[in-house]
Amino acid sequence: MSPVSLAVRDLGLAGRQKISHALIFKGNNPQVLLEEAESLAAFLNCLEEETSSRPCGSCDHCRQIKSAVFPYWLTIAPQGAAGLIQIRQIRELQVKLAGKAPAGQVKVAALLDAHRMREESQNCLLKTLEEPPEDTILLLLTDRPQDLLPTVRSRCQLIDFGSRQLPPAQTELDLVLDVVRALESQGYYAVFDKAAFVEGSRKKRLPEFLAALEFLLRESLVSHLSPGAAAAGLAENLPAGLAADGRKLLTALEEVWQAGYFLERNVNALLILENLFLKINKLNIRVTEGG
Ligand SMILES: [Zn+2]
Repeated sequence: MSPVSLAVRDLGLAGRQKISHALIFKGNNPQVLLEEAESLAAFLNCLEEETSSRPCGSCDHCRQIKSAVFPYWLTIAPQGAAGLIQIRQIRELQVKLAGKAPAGQVKVAALLDAHRMREESQNCLLKTLEEPPEDTILLLLTDRPQDLLPTVRSRCQLIDFGSRQLPPAQTELDLVLDVVRALESQGYYAVFDKAAFVEGSRKKRLPEFLAALEFLLRESLVSHLSPGAAAAGLAENLPAGLAADGRKLLTALEEVWQAGYFLERNVNALLILENLFLKINKLNIRVTEGG
């Protein structure tokens, strides 16, 4: 069982009753999204009493979810020549979700490539989104949430897993560490210098720099939340990482996501970086040497 990502863990730790009953998991890598969905299903149904150890990966429920035989972990994917999620599949899912889960268990249904649905199928799904059965969470996995009907989108909380598929290049990680070291030692004065340098040297590859920053923040947050269980075991192999108080790491991550959002919308890159570096400086993100 892969460790829960910080977004999923944060949702889980916030208490299951607070989890929105419908979520869009957005990201470019379908496999990553499916693993996140599976982790959330396991997190919510794991038999381990200690919340911070969920999903344990070894209890009956975790094992059943991993091998896709758990009765309350349901997935549907596009079918047929047209590669669409059929209205029939939605109806079958609704029948399965209508049943009551045993106490303490949560029905989790994931729709893979959820944007591959005709309007009639989406309208059919809408009924479930409007009046969700008890203890049920619907996950719409997609890289194109903009292709879903606004009525569907508006009933779902969006969680963006970004475009990171592979660990970022070492050159980008080194540049991130270099920037954060400068912000740490020179404070405010380094903000504009470093923003200009990064903008000038990266140009079109700015998303890679942001991905590296996001990667280091995520690694740090995961090891912060569960020491010794760093995501994918990558953090231990890094020569250096980032550190700060957990809440600040989360805020910094949100700033990175926002920077990515503005970048996609062609906001001036230098402004985006200056703003981002100011925030990082304010949040006292530090570099920790030697992993
Ligand atoms: Zn478990």
